[in-house]
Amino acid sequence: MTTLTFDSLNPATGEVVGSHPKHDARAVHEAVGRAEAATTWWAALPPGERRRRLLDFKAVLTGRLRELAALVHEETGKPVGDATLEIVLAVTHLDWAARNAAKVLGPRRVATGMMGLNLAATLEYLPLGVVGVIGPWNYPVFTPMGSIAYALAAGNAVVFKPSELTPGVGVRLAELFAESVPEQPVLQTVTGLGETGAALAADPRLGKVAFTGSTATAKRVMAACAENLTPLVAECGGKDAFIVDADADLAAAADACLWGAMSNAGQTCAGVERVYVVDSVYEPFLRELSGRAAEVKAGEDYGPITMPAQIDIIRRHIDDATKSGKVVTGGRDSVRAPFVDPVIVEDVPEDSPAVREETFGPTITVRRTRDVQEALELANASAYGLAGTIFSRDARRATRLARAMRTGMTAVNSVISFAGVPALPFGGVGDSGFGRIHGADGLREFTRPKAVSRQR
Ligand code: NAD
Repeated sequence: MTTLTFDSLNPATGEVVGSHPKHDARAVHEAVGRAEAATTWWAALPPGERRRRLLDFKAVLTGRLRELAALVHEETGKPVGDATLEIVLAVTHLDWAARNAAKVLGPRRVATGMMGLNLAATLEYLPLGVVGVIGPWNYPVFTPMGSIAYALAAGNAVVFKPSELTPGVGVRLAELFAESVPEQPVLQTVTGLGETGAALAADPRLGKVAFTGSTATAKRVMAACAENLTPLVAECGGKDAFIVDADADLAAAADACLWGAMSNAGQTCAGVERVYVVDSVYEPFLRELSGRAAEVKAGEDYGPITMPAQIDIIRRHIDDATKSGKVVTGGRDSVRAPFVDPVIVEDVPEDSPAVREETFGPTITVRRTRDVQEALELANASAYGLAGTIFSRDARRATRLARAMRTGMTAVNSVISFAGVPALPFGGVGDSGFGRIHGADGLREFTRPKAVSRQR
């Protein structure tokens, strides 16, 4: 029985935004049971009807954009404009998943011809059943929607456990979905702390768990999934590199670097944290970057650090970087909890925590490299491998470097642009996780391929 509640707070003001149940293992178990019944109904709907319902959900979300953005703003502290942008991006993915599911997953004939057998062969992608989605707080609509929309479009029911920092947003998503699909609880939200997520991951009836959060939690979720051989998609942290080539447009690179590092107060999995600049343009690039950074202020240009414990990590990294490196912008005084002004430090040793660990704050390290090859080697010398950026005017070299970058995604002459292209798969390598959301790969992630060969 669920007896306890917890509050969500506005991180900028400390005010209570809402109170939500701490769903225990039994409540989670019941939600998965309801989802099992719902998935039978949802999966049996004609694909056109599922698409219609999902596009209806899109229309509902679009109609409630202001209300939802206000809630995201309250629970995360991010500016309303940023909250609006993440919802618009989420809706773009919902639209793509709805429109493309039947085409990507539907039955198709496969060429036969083995040993002269007269076979008819078909391949199709069937739903897994119930998908458990466990989400983070930093993009509380965009990030979970990258799993929820694709899992639903593939014919699964979803039990969603939002972050304990953004439960209100998670609850509202399921309520709004029910306006388009009132018949069955195809999308449910369970709220609570880590225990609620742990209970969900441990449920043997799940067809898959889609986890987004820290690498440390992903390991615990994976151990729980291992008990039942439940497949897992793990979208974890990052320490993304930004490479500036000798021929790069330095003004454009500085704009992109600053935005990639500081937007959402640096609380972005694919945010810029390490910058490698080729020697010949190092000084002018740093001038461009620091000039812009001096104009940026926390609390005006971006919001607070949403999770109080993150402040300690950011402070530790700034302390470490400023002791071992040379401050370019800001410094230890930049931390005015819950706000952190931009911090740029150069020449921080590559083996220090500020370069190795995810900071998740508006702080970056900058290093001069001999050439672009050395920049690539340093970029790749990370346990993480989520995304990265290359600024270069030489399209062939940029393409070669992008392919050689050990990441799931690389943006050339822009930052994080891949996230806005629904057809592109999203996910990382190494400590950044495995599996893919978004695009055709993201749809297939929530299915099992079904092979049928029929002797004629
Ligand atoms: P977190 O790992 O602390 O929590 C994520 C979710 O897991 C929360 O809902 C939490 O309640 C739940 N949880 C905690 N313990 C659990 C357990 N034992 N079993 C099951 N669930 C459990 O992460 P966070 O602080 O919410 O999010 C920040 C992290 O997420 C950063 O590392 C960031 O890089 C990463 N992130 C990655 C992506 C991506 O797509 N790769 C996107 C956004 C955020």
